[in-house]
Amino acid sequence: METSLPDFRLNDGSRVAVIGGGPAGSFFTYFLLSMAERSGVDIGIDVYEPRDFSKPGQSGCNKCGGIIYDSLVQSLATDGIFLPASVVQNGIAGYAFHLDEGAVRIKPPIDEKRIASVRRGAGPCGAARSLLASFDGFLLGLAEEKGARIVRERVTDAGMVDGKPRVTTISGPSEAYDLLVGALGVNSPDLKFFENLGTGYTPPVTTKTYITEVFLGDDAIDACLGDAMHVLLLNIPRLKFAAIIPKGEYATVCLLGRDIDQELVDSFFRHPEVVRCFPAGWSSADIRCRCFPSINLGRAEGTFGDRFVMVGDSGVSRLYKDGIGSAYRTARAAAQAAFLTACRKRISRRTTGRFAMRSPPTTGSGKSYSASPA
Ligand SMILES: Cc1cc2nc3c(=O)[nH]c(=O)nc-3n(C[C@H](O)[C@H](O)[C@H](O)COP(=O)(O)OP(=O)(O)OC[C@H]3O[C@@H](n4cnc5c(N)ncnc54)[C@H](O)[C@@H]3O)c2cc1C
Repeated sequence: METSLPDFRLNDGSRVAVIGGGPAGSFFTYFLLSMAERSGVDIGIDVYEPRDFSKPGQSGCNKCGGIIYDSLVQSLATDGIFLPASVVQNGIAGYAFHLDEGAVRIKPPIDEKRIASVRRGAGPCGAARSLLASFDGFLLGLAEEKGARIVRERVTDAGMVDGKPRVTTISGPSEAYDLLVGALGVNSPDLKFFENLGTGYTPPVTTKTYITEVFLGDDAIDACLGDAMHVLLLNIPRLKFAAIIPKGEYATVCLLGRDIDQELVDSFFRHPEVVRCFPAGWSSADIRCRCFPSINLGRAEGTFGDRFVMVGDSGVSRLYKDGIGSAYRTARAAAQAAFLTACRKRISRRTTGRFAMRSPPTTGSGKSYSASPA
């Protein structure tokens, strides 16, 4: 028996606004448009994203360690998304753990570089030459290839007018949308727009982290870091852990803990175990590209309601780990929920199951990137 549907169905001609073209926004767009395509439903999506991911430095970067775990590489492959070699900076073959007492290296049982390190933008500020393509730029490109319209503007307001979402940019207010998707991450002051949507949305609690890109050159990267991700568990007040990730000729250094500030950063770089990770004579005074982005400590409240859903960091993310994987999972689940609820009537008439809402297979080729600089 078919139950009566509320009047917020997505149908032919429905329009969706996605605010934020980071991983969560791009994944949502990719999955919703893929499902719509397979079911013959014509849905228009506008993705609002002011960042140009082809620019080096902070203006083109979504500030992150850039580790893509094996499980995500596999999941993406089952969804038909293969990380091109041009996006993968390094294949990571194992972990080196550094404690105050010394270091130990852990190699995986299979000798494969199944973890990828990527750049979220086009490279650190001041980079002398092209550093391969941006992961976020690649994903946004996939969304565009699926048919999304990319609006290169920051959304300056969002809300409901006569029960339908509208967004405002410097160009003025938009037409009415049928669904509003918030994928702004946690480094945007604009999350406040969503607090007035009547669902009790409260952004996640966050804390400051630290990231820097250190130029070392190929030889020093090989000698000091090799193809391992270095995890540092050191007895420094307020520091939970740190990671040093080889990325081409650079090393990305991430510090996570409580309210990371310059004083903590300085004591980190002075620690003897950290000094051992860098070439003799290297000094943190040489650092050019650094930032203090926020990271989730908890989940948001009121993350969905009629015609509105939050995905990625601005909804829920895992603590200190696999945030891009969380963006993938929340975006995919939200797209499925929006599509299945919205198109229930249409789907119930179809018998082919071509929209493939089954679980993805558990195996898949995660090797497309291993022809990369690994
Ligand atoms: C120090 C650190 C290290 C990390 N390391 C890793 C790691 O190694 N691996 C991992 O998986 N995760 C890591 N993460 C977490 C990861 O960065 C996030 O979980 C991930 O970026 C979330 O994706 P998102 O799309 O939700 O948000 P974001 O990546 O923040 O994207 C949000 C997008 O919204 C856009 N935006 C914001 N406001 C507006 C507006 N008003 N209008 C239009 N667009 C707007 C922004 O420009 C941005 O492109 C790390 C995070 C930190 C802080």
